[in-house]
Amino acid sequence: MQTALTSTVSDLRARVAAWRAEGKRIGLVPTMGALHAGHLSLVEAARAHADVVTVSIFVNPRQFGPNEDLARYPRTLARDMELLSQANVELCYAPPVEDVYPADFATEVHVPGISALYCGQFRPGHFAGVATVLTKLFLRIAPEVAVFGEKDYQQLAVIRTFVRDLEIPVELIGVPTLREADGLAMSSRNAYLSAPERARAALLYATLQAAAAHLRAHTGQAQAALDRATQDLLAGGFGKVDYIALCDARTLAPLTAPPTAPARLLAAAWLGTTRLIDNISV
Ligand code: AMP
Repeated sequence: MQTALTSTVSDLRARVAAWRAEGKRIGLVPTMGALHAGHLSLVEAARAHADVVTVSIFVNPRQFGPNEDLARYPRTLARDMELLSQANVELCYAPPVEDVYPADFATEVHVPGISALYCGQFRPGHFAGVATVLTKLFLRIAPEVAVFGEKDYQQLAVIRTFVRDLEIPVELIGVPTLREADGLAMSSRNAYLSAPERARAALLYATLQAAAAHLRAHTGQAQAALDRATQDLLAGGFGKVDYIALCDARTLAPLTAPPTAPARLLAAAWLGTTRLIDNISV
């Protein structure tokens, strides 16, 4: 199937209205493009829960900090459209920045508390940018279902929070992280890695797995396992570890002791100029 491409709200609304008139359930997969197999696994999940699938591609400037990688973020629309067509996606919605954020745009959706933890400490404003653009996408498309990756675990928790609080009528589906053969979580940002960095990058997942195994096997304090994990990453060539944290899998509240309820290990660390994130269940 040739995926239709639209960039205007009027065309988007017309297509969505036609689907609605036919009684179709609409699935949305929001992305920033530079699509990979992880994104396509989200498309598959959307397909399983909806009659028609829309993938949005929008490199959202509001979720990048002033010194972050907005300018160099990979933009590969022609290739993305090929992949979406192969995946039988009905529609790709790729609006221009000035359409999403006109010059007089003023409103932000903030989710305090959860947004201040972990990545939020290092990327102030990031989750407000995510919540703001997704609120706009949810209002423009009104999908019955929206699909997100557990790769961005904190992001998914933030989204669940504002969708619940604002009573946005959309069902949220989280999809497990798709990984390369060596365990590295697939990410558009992996394209930044040099060959030697790429060879080292899988250490992030391996380190999380080792820490999780330790936490499952030992009672007492969790901090020793987290400190050890940080040391292992630094010894393995990572330049800076923003955080390695153990938290409640649902609330993301930090845990100081090995968990008795479902928990998650979250990490963000730098290889050269590339910031990698990953997470696993404990
Ligand atoms: P992005 O384009 O990086 O903003 O990601 C768009 C969506 O794809 C988000 O919901 C991500 O969590 C999800 N995603 C990114 N990488 C992966 C992956 N390796 N496995 C599963 N989902 C992913």
